[in-house]
Amino acid sequence: MERKNRIVVFGGTGYIGKHLVKASLSLGHPTFVYTRPLTSQTPPSKIQLCKDFTSMGVTLLQGELEHEQILAVVKEVDIVICALPFPQAMEQLKIIEAIKVAGNIKRFIPTGFGSEEEKIKALPPFQAVLDEKRKIREKIEAAGIPYTSINANCFAAYFINYLLRPHQKLKDIVVYGTGEAKVVLNYEEDVAMYIVKAANDPRTCNRVVSCRPLKNIITQNKLISLWHQKSGQTFTNTFVSEEQIVKLSQTLPFPENIPVSIIHSVFVRGDLTSFDIGEDDLEASLLYPDYNYTSIDEVLDIFLVHPPLPASTSFG
Ligand code: NAP
Repeated sequence: MERKNRIVVFGGTGYIGKHLVKASLSLGHPTFVYTRPLTSQTPPSKIQLCKDFTSMGVTLLQGELEHEQILAVVKEVDIVICALPFPQAMEQLKIIEAIKVAGNIKRFIPTGFGSEEEKIKALPPFQAVLDEKRKIREKIEAAGIPYTSINANCFAAYFINYLLRPHQKLKDIVVYGTGEAKVVLNYEEDVAMYIVKAANDPRTCNRVVSCRPLKNIITQNKLISLWHQKSGQTFTNTFVSEEQIVKLSQTLPFPENIPVSIIHSVFVRGDLTSFDIGEDDLEASLLYPDYNYTSIDEVLDIFLVHPPLPASTSFG
């Protein structure tokens, strides 16, 4: 029987990292998590998560983002998935260097599972994030490392929490721009499954994979009306104009100017759907048609029964 690829997740204790670890385990991969050393200062929730991982069969590896320590880990596995938050994007240079030295890695998945950096031009704070993502890809290519770049678009639970705030039973909902831009909302569990599948797929080597399943394309106005139908709640929509959002991106300090610039790109300009996915492009739901992804409609049903708590995360 063919040996399953061994996968390490950097940032595996994080928001999307947890889903990646579960996806890797559920697809039968020996799974490793590289985490910063646990100390007396480590929050109890992270200690518990690490215990849960261990009982699920995950090998927990503790260390800093330092060359020798990363190299030792990389030598033990076949696939490296990085789910570090975007402020740590350039730390990936150390992972790239270790992968280059080790020479055994079959696939590297860099972090930054959001927009397609080659296809959009964003306001300066978000553009700087996209430029870093591009720089990392160039470094990976220059090092000759097999990689897959994943554009997961919006994480659905995160953005639905952000837009509709189901916990707060809001009467006022903020609509960005006209609310008519088409966005893509993909459920986190599915994003993680697509990433792990793509990491093992010869078709996706040195390619970009976009996650744009048809049932997950929606406007903000339509999302609000669907939520109204399902929850029975009524809302007043407060529209925030493009000018106001641009102004905020210019006046808010770093790093608060980044999320507002992402909102401009995604919800005002509709950048996630402003380009076609051509026949030669790779789209996750077409690559893996047997995988039954969760539609936005189904995500809202999940929210109706068990609204997930708003999570702290760094979207980008
Ligand atoms: P996160 O939860 O903020 O952090 C992930 C992990 O990284 C943490 O659990 C931590 O692991 C490690 N980490 C955090 N700060 C660190 C530091 N200063 N130095 C070293 N390690 C550190 O990350 P996330 O929100 O899941 O983001 C991961 C990726 O997903 C990013 O690229 C982000 O842009 C993207 N994202 C996309 C969307 C979207 O809608 N498209 C939404 C959210 C996030 P340990 O403590 O175990 O070391």
